[in-house]
Amino acid sequence: MQDTLISLAYLVSSVLFILCLRGLSSPEQGRRGIFLGELGMLIAVIATLVKKEIVSYEWIVAGLLLGSLIGTAISAKIPMTKMPERIAFSHAFGGLATALVGITEFHKLRGLFGEVASTAVDASTAVGSAGIAATEHGMNRLTMGALGFEVFLGSLTFTGSIMAFGKLQGVITGAPVTWKGQNAMNIGAFFGTIALLVYQVAFPHDAPQWMFFVMCGAGLALGVLAVLPIGGADMPVVISLLNSYAGLAACATGFALKSNILIISGALDGSSGLLLSMMMSKAMNRSFANVVFGAFGTAEGTAAPTAGGAAKPFNEATVEDAAAVLTASQTVIIVPGYGMAVSQAQHAVRDLAAALEKRGTEVKYAIHPVAGRMPGHMNVLLAEANVPYDALFDLDMINDDFARTDAVLVVGANDVVNPGAKTDTASPIYGMPVFNVEQARSVIVLKRSMNTGFSGVENELFFLGNTMMVLGDAKKTILALVNDVKGGGGH
Ligand code: NAP
Repeated sequence: MQDTLISLAYLVSSVLFILCLRGLSSPEQGRRGIFLGELGMLIAVIATLVKKEIVSYEWIVAGLLLGSLIGTAISAKIPMTKMPERIAFSHAFGGLATALVGITEFHKLRGLFGEVASTAVDASTAVGSAGIAATEHGMNRLTMGALGFEVFLGSLTFTGSIMAFGKLQGVITGAPVTWKGQNAMNIGAFFGTIALLVYQVAFPHDAPQWMFFVMCGAGLALGVLAVLPIGGADMPVVISLLNSYAGLAACATGFALKSNILIISGALDGSSGLLLSMMMSKAMNRSFANVVFGAFGTAEGTAAPTAGGAAKPFNEATVEDAAAVLTASQTVIIVPGYGMAVSQAQHAVRDLAAALEKRGTEVKYAIHPVAGRMPGHMNVLLAEANVPYDALFDLDMINDDFARTDAVLVVGANDVVNPGAKTDTASPIYGMPVFNVEQARSVIVLKRSMNTGFSGVENELFFLGNTMMVLGDAKKTILALVNDVKGGGGH
């Protein structure tokens, strides 16, 4: 009876996880989706805790308390711009936990330290296997395969996520670190590890145990080596990919521990992470392989290359000039980018839009799928500032409107408004869909300098006759604009 109830609870959790993913596909339903996911996780955890195989609660309760405390403290303090770092950090520990569970299971079944662990249930066994004691003993091929994947992917996710965190945090250089033969070396190490795993699966009882340790070490090393050549700003794609590895590792854990809920949630995590990485690559018009092996991007904020070293002329404007253009406009489109996140200008942007709307100006927001540094980055920031969803328009919905718009206000965006992506076949962002902002009557660009954005390429928009560059921190500039617009006359 108890087993049936637990299985039912797992079924409910699985359905809730699926509904959570569905909810996360739109900003309106995002919060509800998160709530359903949390509820599903709560039900799954409670169902696991009442299993009769649980023999001791002390370590579990201690872990729950400590983990919840650290998690709550981190979440309360982390600003939205640091979300990719926070996610990378959590994945690192998810990967580590998975690898450790795998090592514990291997120890139980093959006796890592000389002898097979006692079948008697003790506290350390309980903790090592997520609090569930072994019910069956002896290594078989399926379990060895599952444990191998679990430990290899878990170790890789651990160091890979730490590297991604370091790159985003600036502790490790954000520029791709490359050397000759690097991809061949990484691919060789990957297939070498798979060969070791295949041998262990073929001889689950007799394969030398050093193979298992080498596989763990290879996972740890590959996590570092695979992330080193990837540019800092591609880290969100990498984090999403590592998330999918962590999911697959959890799925393998499910097979090793014979836990259906782990198999289902791991598979959901693995497939959604992979799909998200592919969608992010597609929105940048880059192949998935180019992101992972392409060593794309520079350390951010490099000066734009200039023709023959000479600086090109551009229209530098003051806040007053920009305010005059905005107050004279009847239609304004705001295009936010990564710089809005850096300067935390979203509240000031909302105030500026409100001040313009009060004067009768129609204001819309154009949201690019890869603006910022993570999917939905701009949506989340603008939602935080209470900008209504119906004022946000995605690329397909708004791109034809620019040609009949009086003024476009570009707030810290660069690559997503680079017309070179449409015309310059030599550009690394050639083919990436971009906003047609240059077609508007006037374009006001807010950024701190003439430096490049993520892709490291010059943006010809900044040198066009109808573009005004207002240089400075976006938030400061917008706050000054709000003042001027509120004080200015009507159209
Ligand atoms: P971007 O091309 O990186 O440009 C951002 C601009 O913001 C920079 O040129 C910078 O210029 C400016 N900026 C920085 N701090 C600022 C501040 N305090 N005030 C004003 N301006 C500031 O950003 P984007 O146009 O949003 O494009 C996103 C890029 O990231 C794309 O190339 C995309 O492919 C890539 N990417 C996105 C994702 C994703 O999921 N969203 C994931 C991976 C990669 P200054 O230094 O001169 O101020």
